[in-house]
Amino acid sequence: MSIEQQINKIREELRQHNYNYYVLDAATISDYEFDMKLKELQEMEEKHPEFYDPNSPTLRVGGEVTKNFNTVVHEQRMYSLDNSYSKEDLLDWETRIKKLVDGDVSYTCELKYDGASISLTYENGELIRAVTRGDGIQGDDVTTNVKTIKSVPLKLKGDYPVKFDIRGEIVLPYEGFAKMNQERVAAGEEPYANPRNTASGSLKLQDSSETAKRPLDCLLYNLAGDRLGISSQYESLEKARQWGFKVPQESRLVNSIDEVLEFVNLWDQKRRELPYETDGVVIKVNNLQQQEELGFTSKAPRWAMAYKFKAEQAVTKLNEITYQVGRTGAITPVANLEPVQLAGTTVKRASLHNADQIQKLDIRENDTVFVEKGGEIIPKIVSVDFTKRDHNSIPTQYISSCPECGTDLIRKEGEAQHYCPNIYGCPPQIVGRIQHYISRKALDIEGLGGETVALLVKEGLITNYADLYELTKEQVIPLERMAEKSADNLIEGILKSKEIPFERVLFGLGIRYVGETVAKKLAKHYKTIDAIIAATEEELVNVDEIGIKIAQSVREFFNSESNKTLVEKLLSHGVQLQISADKLANQTETLKGQTFVVSGVFEKVSRNELKKLIEDNGGKVSSSISSKTTYVVAGANMGPSKLEKANKLGIVIISEDDFLNLIE
Ligand code: AMP
Ligand code: ZN
Repeated sequence: MSIEQQINKIREELRQHNYNYYVLDAATISDYEFDMKLKELQEMEEKHPEFYDPNSPTLRVGGEVTKNFNTVVHEQRMYSLDNSYSKEDLLDWETRIKKLVDGDVSYTCELKYDGASISLTYENGELIRAVTRGDGIQGDDVTTNVKTIKSVPLKLKGDYPVKFDIRGEIVLPYEGFAKMNQERVAAGEEPYANPRNTASGSLKLQDSSETAKRPLDCLLYNLAGDRLGISSQYESLEKARQWGFKVPQESRLVNSIDEVLEFVNLWDQKRRELPYETDGVVIKVNNLQQQEELGFTSKAPRWAMAYKFKAEQAVTKLNEITYQVGRTGAITPVANLEPVQLAGTTVKRASLHNADQIQKLDIRENDTVFVEKGGEIIPKIVSVDFTKRDHNSIPTQYISSCPECGTDLIRKEGEAQHYCPNIYGCPPQIVGRIQHYISRKALDIEGLGGETVALLVKEGLITNYADLYELTKEQVIPLERMAEKSADNLIEGILKSKEIPFERVLFGLGIRYVGETVAKKLAKHYKTIDAIIAATEEELVNVDEIGIKIAQSVREFFNSESNKTLVEKLLSHGVQLQISADKLANQTETLKGQTFVVSGVFEKVSRNELKKLIEDNGGKVSSSISSKTTYVVAGANMGPSKLEKANKLGIVIISEDDFLNLIE
């Protein structure tokens, strides 16, 4: 046997042992024997660097250090899930599904693992990339750290597809978490709050050998990719298991919502016996063709639904109500609680939302309250224990002036929130707007963080986001914790932000109700900031999906002289306030006023490319057929219910080629 063959043989053996131990939970050799073999391999690899393999079992111990994690765009978006809480919610969901697809619907029920979501990319059976969910569109490349997780296969077995992504959850089992905390406490450090945050923190450690020491596990539940030769969710779980992934065994295939509920009730109890945290059940339409027909909303797949287990509650005392001022001037009342343990974390604060909520709960300082933690990070107060109330307690008086600047608060007709109207003079609003401008989804200014912004404002160096572009290195160096290098990075980051596309700048301006999606719509429709400034309220409302509330807010923003000055300043500094020329070149108005429904599988372009082509050419994509539909673009296996509906309404069905001819 040649050296190369010997090395490969040991690698193969170690891989199998890893799999037996970490995926199957059934070791066939002792730890000692394993260590000896690993050592042998390490020595051979050291002597023969020419046979380096980025997926060798020796790399499981980590050692590579990452300073900055690269951002990677997910080839297929990582969606969130819609939530349901009752049988009615599930039945409603089923009704919606049955309107869109034909035939019987069966479901897979899976547990909803509470950890950090991850997307793994495999090519030719080798792990090539691991990316965090991030914002769902792009995440961080954490491959070096994920490779140290022993249940993640670095090489696959069996008849795997050439290229695919697989999604799952990185979790920290209770036992390993408890052990980590014991060690921390023994070393005089603060214990970690909960397994979920610790799992996601572990993926972002700079030194991968630190990640390697943590007892992380990786559970897989979804395949993503084209032409995988699989027809159902349940089958994809079985296949993934065969390829060497750790796919939990609890999943069930069922035929009705009643059976779904049986599964939920069973696991609501039994989950306490599981080695890791779960917070609900995920129900997925089993047939992948049906999934394809159902598609996605802007946030979540229509073919999947989370059912949340009942949240855990705790009782504690409300010490004080304080008030926070956000970047839009919105006031949020906060309950400061006597610290209490709840679902694995210590809870000290809870949001009270607004004045109505306080009134509804009739909550007062010194009350005994019930707190609850659902999926959300911030726990909420569900009710007051009136039997424990002191008889001379006084009702809560909502504040009438801003706690930060003293200005009288206002509350618009029909709105729940109070606002501080002192937009340009109230410190948290000034700072908050700039923090929003530099945030990741807006101008994403590297080298500048929220705290530095606060400091720059405090020092009087900036009062708005346009001022950023006039900052000099000499001005920032004297700031606290600012070194030559970080000052350079900051200035460079600001310069680089001039390349950020118009739609994100528009989002960054911080116009109320103009979120990411609305900013995209407006940018696409008007193409330049001047056109938006010139648009009347009426014209704005006529833009697809722009309602009166948004239109008013846009007008209000640009009616303000100081905002207009801000925009002019940004323009003079070369910030992108119109769609770039090459983007414009790819866009036409050919399909203006036409609405398309896309159904089936295509040959020349993927479904997503097709949708993008429609939008780039001025058309609109809709998910269901109605009298407003201009064309249905049909690929292979178009859903029969869509076909019938299209025929009934007399909608023209065109092929992929017909469509491509349309835009030629
Ligand atoms: P949420 O973050 O509450 O919108 O829920 C969506 C997240 O649930 C996904 O991003 C996954 O990380 C997680 N999840 C856990 N278990 C599953 C599962 N079996 N199927 C799909 N998603 C799951
Ligand atoms: Zn104020």
